[in-house]
Amino acid sequence: MTSLEQEAAARRRDEAEPGHRHLFHVPPAEGGRYAESAYLVGNSLGLQPRAARADLDAELETWATRGVSGHFSGDRPWVPSYRSLTGPSASLVGALPAETVVMNSLTVNLHLLMVSFYRPTAGRDRIVIEDTAFPSDSYAVRSQARHHGLDPDEAVVRLRPRPGEETLRTEDVLDYLDREGQRVALVLLGGVNYLTGELMEIPEITEAGHRAGALVGWDLAHAVGNVPLALHDWDVDFAAWCTYKYLNSGPGALAGAFVHERHLGDPTVDRFEGWWGTDEATRFEMAPVSRPPATVEGWLISNPPVLAMAPMRSALAIFAQVGMPALRDRSERLTGFLEELLDQVIPGRPLTVLTPRDPARRGCQLSVRIGRGGAAALTERLSQEYGVLVDDREPDVIRLAPVPLYSTYHDCWRAAEALSRLVDKS
Ligand SMILES: *Cc1c(COP(=O)(O)O)cnc(C)c1O
Repeated sequence: MTSLEQEAAARRRDEAEPGHRHLFHVPPAEGGRYAESAYLVGNSLGLQPRAARADLDAELETWATRGVSGHFSGDRPWVPSYRSLTGPSASLVGALPAETVVMNSLTVNLHLLMVSFYRPTAGRDRIVIEDTAFPSDSYAVRSQARHHGLDPDEAVVRLRPRPGEETLRTEDVLDYLDREGQRVALVLLGGVNYLTGELMEIPEITEAGHRAGALVGWDLAHAVGNVPLALHDWDVDFAAWCTYKYLNSGPGALAGAFVHERHLGDPTVDRFEGWWGTDEATRFEMAPVSRPPATVEGWLISNPPVLAMAPMRSALAIFAQVGMPALRDRSERLTGFLEELLDQVIPGRPLTVLTPRDPARRGCQLSVRIGRGGAAALTERLSQEYGVLVDDREPDVIRLAPVPLYSTYHDCWRAAEALSRLVDKS
């Protein structure tokens, strides 16, 4: 097919399968022939739901007209309002409402959950992460090890792909846990790796961690809203995720946290507490000792930022309306389409896709290594000359995420077409 024929094919697919782009603001393109950008960076910051402004305005109005009484009065009193985010969040991660709460930010939640679930003992003190862990996760686990008086270079184990391979094999993770598991206190991996786009086999790894006597937590920053999750059934001990990537809840938006039912109400689980984690019926009695409920809300510390929650409400409503199964179907088609186009662009060019080819082992993102480096410069040109937004991870990876809610087949075509023009054959 010629490029023009491919473009026409992409357009036909978009007509047949329009998606939900109309519910979002799509930023204008900086360059190229099209008015809107081909926004393939929803894995970094999801687009703004059009409904978010009205939701935010409503909270500003309550503040303007009710002042402090907005806490308990009006259509949506602020004090319990975080709870309206619980149900939609729980269904996205496959959890019970009692296991799910929206609070803080992602790395903060990882720390708070490690306070509870990383309890090293003599002989069992390791934390297992992946070598390509997001830096914040690396720093978090290293500082947790130091906090317990351990040497992070010893306590933190970084699992690497086999030489010459880009992604971790499940069998190698399981093998490590079978061999060394008696030394492992905690396994903390990314559900979908931020760099390679690999979707980990969460139930298998969780089970192997448990078999070894360790606890298993997941960072779902790149998994939530991207792939279906069933944390409760998978017996995951805890998880945390941000909501500004695939969940479109706005820059720096609040994060989510999950603690499995089996740990709830367990008095041997330690945690850091604040007044929002005490029983709400007696919260305002201002008693000196907390009486936390037997739910994950016992991990709440502060009163939640109401203005920050407003866009999340609009965003999660879209997921509730569309549903993850439908999104995942579309996602596999969109990413498969981008992969097909890249397969035609790549031969002869210094480009390699790092992401697994098996749709069951990835979300929507495809990561491409640029053989000659210069990922940042390429990203810049893609945006300025073609209006195609991707992001780069130094030194040599660009990430393209066709997001099933709002990306189009035509966006995928634009990305492949621009790459074919900007990257010379070697
Ligand atoms: C995006 C991301 C973060 C960001 O952490 P914040 O605390 O939200 O700033 C952390 N970990 C992973 C794996 C991420 O993808």
